[in-house]
Amino acid sequence: MAALSLQKHINKQLYDKWDLAYLYTDKNLKVVEVSDGLTLYGYPEIPLGCEVEDYVDFMVGFDASTRVDLPLVESPSGITVAVNLIPSKRGLAIVFSNASHLAEQRQLLQQKANENELLLRQQRILTHRLEQASKELEGKNEALREAARLQNSFLSGVSHEFRTPLSSIIGYTNLLERETHNPDKNPEAYANCRSYLRAVKRSSKHILSLVENLLDHGKLDADQIVIRPKPCDLHEVFDDIRLLLSPLAGTKNVEFTLQTNFEPGCMVIADDSRLRQCLLNIVGNAVKFTDKGSVTLKAELNRELLSIEVIDTGEGISKDNLAKIRIPFFQVADTGKAGTGLGLTITEGLIELMGGELVIRSELHQGTQVSFELPMPLLEAEALAMPEPSIDIDQLKVLLAEDDSDIADLLVMLLDEQNIEVTHVSNGALALEASEHEQFDLILMDLHMPVMDGYQAMEAMQKGGNTVPVAVMSASNLSEDRLQAQQYGCAAYLTKPVEIEEILLLANQLTSEA
Ligand code: ADP
Repeated sequence: MAALSLQKHINKQLYDKWDLAYLYTDKNLKVVEVSDGLTLYGYPEIPLGCEVEDYVDFMVGFDASTRVDLPLVESPSGITVAVNLIPSKRGLAIVFSNASHLAEQRQLLQQKANENELLLRQQRILTHRLEQASKELEGKNEALREAARLQNSFLSGVSHEFRTPLSSIIGYTNLLERETHNPDKNPEAYANCRSYLRAVKRSSKHILSLVENLLDHGKLDADQIVIRPKPCDLHEVFDDIRLLLSPLAGTKNVEFTLQTNFEPGCMVIADDSRLRQCLLNIVGNAVKFTDKGSVTLKAELNRELLSIEVIDTGEGISKDNLAKIRIPFFQVADTGKAGTGLGLTITEGLIELMGGELVIRSELHQGTQVSFELPMPLLEAEALAMPEPSIDIDQLKVLLAEDDSDIADLLVMLLDEQNIEVTHVSNGALALEASEHEQFDLILMDLHMPVMDGYQAMEAMQKGGNTVPVAVMSASNLSEDRLQAQQYGCAAYLTKPVEIEEILLLANQLTSEA
């Protein structure tokens, strides 16, 4: 058997390094030689001449003629071994070598492969996220580009909008100036003046509504609009809309119909001025964009819920544009109609603040229906029975602190017309001095004035024990400015331009409270 021994054919160092051990069998797989070292792998003493498969279980089913390199297997002693079956002329050599380090390496490789797989997966997830983020960014960029485009077209539109009424204001005031310098003051000239004045008023109101729209939009954006419900006659609100818009519809031969299921005197608790603003916008649009047919305003009050529907037979809105008309500054191109593209944005925001939702249905060339519902509590009968306060306006003495001479002259003239006695001063210090030397019923106070502003004047008046109600007149309608003025002790806050009716109403309230 020594001639068959592999041991002496294999380099000793290799032999030792790999813990080589082997069995040799004849062609019938009977063991003919057993090397040292098999016990390391957990094989017992294997007697010569036995069937190899009786001792080495993985040899079941092998023959002696084929070379096979078995994958790594675990030996009975638990060591991972590599097994090579090497056939020869005489039989088969079954060579075992210690492969535990290979197994470790494989395990390491597997681990690395797993880690790689994990990294790849993370990479895939990150790439996916990156793709999504860049898509979102692209969408946002597109929205920004669209917003910038709308803003640009808004700015050019709005400057046109401002320029038109301003040119007419300047034109008509020039005419007025000329007419009033005419020594020949005949009735015809006066009639002309009145018609110029009406044009000036119309244009001024138009600019004012543009400015108010811009302010409202800013305030809605900053959550600064507060809905102020108060008792009001619901029918009056709708009748006002009819009075304001049916003449305009009439000039276009468009039939205007108002249908309500409530009568004049139907008292509810609502912010009537905000409701009017929404209706004016929606019904105003319906009249503006209808050139033939009709505009119908329907309002039904059922169980303290007000349902409003505005139906027109006008030019309608395409599906594409319908999706965009609530975007600030958006206007359907080529309508050739004036506007800022802010009306619906503001209306939608206000309706939401009042507890409703704006619904717009429209079909191009067929017409548009706009609807919404608002909670609308009825006013209790006993609240209705409250007596109206009244004052003797003739007896009223007003101190007016205003540095803008145009505004002051106008207010003095309007108050004069009501036989109200007015003392006008042009700054806070003079107002303080006047209030200390004379008794007034009401102080109208501008905020921004030279020498001493309205805040300082109110503070000094309060320190001096002033009990006369102070009404602030400010160009700002921001709630924080109102709050600040209240902290300085103002009894009321009026936003400019202040109308005489507001002053009278306020005088009535403040002096009847006092
Ligand atoms: P604008 O001040 O331009 O009227 P809005 O926000 O009120 O701004 O309306 C935006 C656009 O929606 C309008 O420019 C108009 O194209 C379209 N639109 C609104 N209401 C109607 C309507 N009843 N019929 C047809 N188009 C309308």
